[in-house]
Amino acid sequence: MSNATATSPHPTKKTTMKLDETKAAEGKLLLGTYDRYPLLFERGEGVHLIDENGVRYLDLLSGIGVNALGYAHPAIERAIAEQSRKLIHLSNLYYHEGQAALALRLTEATGMDRAFFANSGTEANEAALKLARAWAKLKRERGTPLGTKFLALENSFHGRTMGSVAATWKDKYREPFDPVMPGVEFVRFDDVDDLKAKFSSEFCAILLEPIQGEGGIRPLSREFLHAARDHTRSTGALLIADEIQSGMGRTGKFCSYQHYGIVPDVVTLAKPLAGGIPLGALLCTEDAAQAIHAGMHGTTFGGGPLACAVALAVLDTIERDHLMDHVTATGTYFREQLDQLAKRHSAVTDVRGLGLMLAVELDSAELAKTVLGEMMQRRILINRTSETVLRFLPPYIVEKEHIDQALAALDEILTEQLAHAAATPLPGGKKIGN
Ligand SMILES: *Cc1c(COP(=O)(O)O)cnc(C)c1O
Repeated sequence: MSNATATSPHPTKKTTMKLDETKAAEGKLLLGTYDRYPLLFERGEGVHLIDENGVRYLDLLSGIGVNALGYAHPAIERAIAEQSRKLIHLSNLYYHEGQAALALRLTEATGMDRAFFANSGTEANEAALKLARAWAKLKRERGTPLGTKFLALENSFHGRTMGSVAATWKDKYREPFDPVMPGVEFVRFDDVDDLKAKFSSEFCAILLEPIQGEGGIRPLSREFLHAARDHTRSTGALLIADEIQSGMGRTGKFCSYQHYGIVPDVVTLAKPLAGGIPLGALLCTEDAAQAIHAGMHGTTFGGGPLACAVALAVLDTIERDHLMDHVTATGTYFREQLDQLAKRHSAVTDVRGLGLMLAVELDSAELAKTVLGEMMQRRILINRTSETVLRFLPPYIVEKEHIDQALAALDEILTEQLAHAAATPLPGGKKIGN
């Protein structure tokens, strides 16, 4: 406080200085991994983020699907306060009550049998890849030929570590770090014939997101998921469902594969699992778990007492407040409103998603960028992925009034942009600001 006052006597200046100073300091001190928007947030309340000037933003992205209960939720506050007075970290050399309690809830919710806890999505996937390799080795030792390769999907996103990134589609994430883990092949998205042509006993697993997140909120077809299930069953390979973005109730069911009537062998969860405290989980069948024994895998932080206690509080809240029903109801409403928007604006080429994992696709990347910027001007936060896709991952506590606010803004912006494009003489007709 005194520092900020000393640098500027003007209260409004003082606050914008914070963003400018932070930006300059980060520019010198951090690796240049992020291209951030010029917003500095200090706190959050419910579905709103509040910036350095006290300005409230409606957050329909919730930390890319992490802050499922929104901000400053009393259940999370309480769990953190209570657990922090007891134990924050405990080495995995010893027992605490949290892991088994959480594993019980997660296995019941997913139909899996056993859990392993990590700290992030990529780590949960990394554990899944290692489990699949160990599983294939066990199979080979028992006389079943099963190779070491992985089959992933085009447009997939599975994380940034050397294994997960190898199974991630976009070249820009992999190529600078080559060689990443070898042996990953990609199937054309939702192409059953391509899956059939590429799959063989050389693969120890198929890794897929039943609804691709980063790839543009693309749900797989029932046919493809069932084909993936059948192919893996035929060789003994594992089917790994990456539910890191789509799990924990985001789509109205605990996991998105539950909409499809299949059960995978391995499920990975992370983003909203502990409501903002880092936590990832791998869940698997009893069979698959036989491939792992003591000493083969582990983590220092994963499944710590604090993260587990908060995850349990998140699960209790989802259950007590019937949040999955709320996700279904508000998600259906949101979807209907987006469909209406698509009818009014030809620039909207598609509306996709399930529950509160939704997207609209626009007819140009430039327009998508403009709309995102205009939404930000109107203090509504959304995200752009896959160039032309506007992604919505609101907290589960979002209400109709917030959806109405976002839709009114989208409608207004698209109308303005159309008028603007029509008024701009060619060939600049496509140029509609940044
Ligand atoms: C975000 C995400 C990951 C990676 O999670 P991190 O916690 O960033 O490592 C993996 N898979 C999917 C589907 C994701 O959305």
